[in-house]
Amino acid sequence: MAKHIFVTGGVVSSLGKGLNAASIGLLLENHGLRIRLQKLDPYVNVDPGTMSPYEHGEVYVTDDGAETDLDLGHYERFTNAVTNKDCNFTTGSIYYSVITKEREGKYLGKTIQVIPHITNEIKDCIRKLADSDTDVVITEIGGIVGDIESQPFLEAIRQFGQEIGRENVLFIHLTLIPYLRAADELKTKPTQHGVGVLRQAGIEPDILICRTEKTLSTSIKEKLSLFCNVEKESIIEEQDVKSHIYEIPLLLVDQGLDEIILKKLHLEKKENSLVEWTKMLNTLLNPERETEVAIVGKYIGHQSAYESIYEALLHGGISNKAKVIERRIESEDIEKDGAEKYLRGCKGILIPGGFGERGIEGKVLAATYARENNIPFLGLCLGMHCATIEFARNVCNLIDANSTEFDMDTPHPVICLLDEQKDIVAKGGTMRLGAQACKIKKASKAYDCYGKELVYERHRHRYEFNNKYRDSFALQGLVFSGFNSDGGLVEIIELKDHPWFVAVQFHPEFKSKPTDPHPLFKGFIKATLDV
Ligand code: GLN
Repeated sequence: MAKHIFVTGGVVSSLGKGLNAASIGLLLENHGLRIRLQKLDPYVNVDPGTMSPYEHGEVYVTDDGAETDLDLGHYERFTNAVTNKDCNFTTGSIYYSVITKEREGKYLGKTIQVIPHITNEIKDCIRKLADSDTDVVITEIGGIVGDIESQPFLEAIRQFGQEIGRENVLFIHLTLIPYLRAADELKTKPTQHGVGVLRQAGIEPDILICRTEKTLSTSIKEKLSLFCNVEKESIIEEQDVKSHIYEIPLLLVDQGLDEIILKKLHLEKKENSLVEWTKMLNTLLNPERETEVAIVGKYIGHQSAYESIYEALLHGGISNKAKVIERRIESEDIEKDGAEKYLRGCKGILIPGGFGERGIEGKVLAATYARENNIPFLGLCLGMHCATIEFARNVCNLIDANSTEFDMDTPHPVICLLDEQKDIVAKGGTMRLGAQACKIKKASKAYDCYGKELVYERHRHRYEFNNKYRDSFALQGLVFSGFNSDGGLVEIIELKDHPWFVAVQFHPEFKSKPTDPHPLFKGFIKATLDV
């Protein structure tokens, strides 16, 4: 039977529950345990797919095409756990499922209530991961304890712990110990209150992970232990990491968190050397050279909107022993002042995915700048659309070429709606989603990166390259180096006479890990170092 760890958060959001859950996953994998990770989000949207990146940051896409919370990206980057549609549920998806069953008459005339029907549904979602191939399921509860919408989730995990037996479940609570400068003191009261809320819900935390700016003194730990009813040894200090989030697992191991968890869950201790992770971190923290990449997007001021891309760039740096300096540029600034002002001197240009017309022309100008100045270029999804539009307008002389996403009446619809999308009206979960096969043409930059002819990459889009333009664009020097399995959809374009200009219809950033950087990011960063 699988053991279960529940990670809750208190005091404030954004304490890094996702990173801590992912780090715990890594620690347990290092003891040879097979883990799964999942996130339960208390908001009412069915999934984050329809939310603006300003609201919710990046939408992370799994192989099986689920549009999920970005914490799943941390899970995949830190661990080898399989991540799929069973790894992210929301209040919306839970109610959706319960109400659908109610309409189908599955409850046989019962009155449907939060307890037990909603809590049962939540428990079923948790059980989905506890198969015979899994030793430990780690479930992160989004939001913080005390939120009205968290309550059914806390009740469900309380019941769950009761059902599977206290020796099989562990409650880990992430909290903040604020430092008050005026008093020169660390304060435990917010944590006492947060844990109080948990205890009112019937949950006794086993371990506290305390985010703090300063070292926790013995007396602070004693106070926390006394008021929160947690053993002193199980109070883990998590000071803000100095350089990078990838240091978190080592910080937790240093305090023996892995051994505490194993002991409490009656699991066997095995080798825990974190060799690969430590080696990666050493390379990351001791780069031998550096490069600078411009990211031209429209959510630039919002760190988590492009989370996986920033991560993948970093991984590309690690594989080249290089520090990647990011130059984050709002595409609308380029529209106002021109590309030169913002892009001069950068060694590479990346255009991320996105939706809607705002900022498009700035991205098109950035692609032109990369092509004309021989600057390595990587376009991702919408980035590929922008590169296509710029090629059409400026190389093929198709003035006013555009994507029908931005101009329905363009005389040259070089990017158009996928056939399968034409009759779709509903917005949620209806794009071309998830991993699809992509055949790579030999003798291409893409093949140089991948070193193989068949890859699987994750998608999230409605528009595609318009095949009507394939032949004429090829004659003008556009290389089509990747296609879907029946050859009907263009997946990768490149420029023939350019040091490194690659744009892809998919999202390679979702498959990059610090210990296994994505080939395209590796190749892109290498190209920026070569020019
Ligand atoms: N908006 C474009 C489309 O729907 C690109 C999507 C993306 O970049 N993920 O096709």
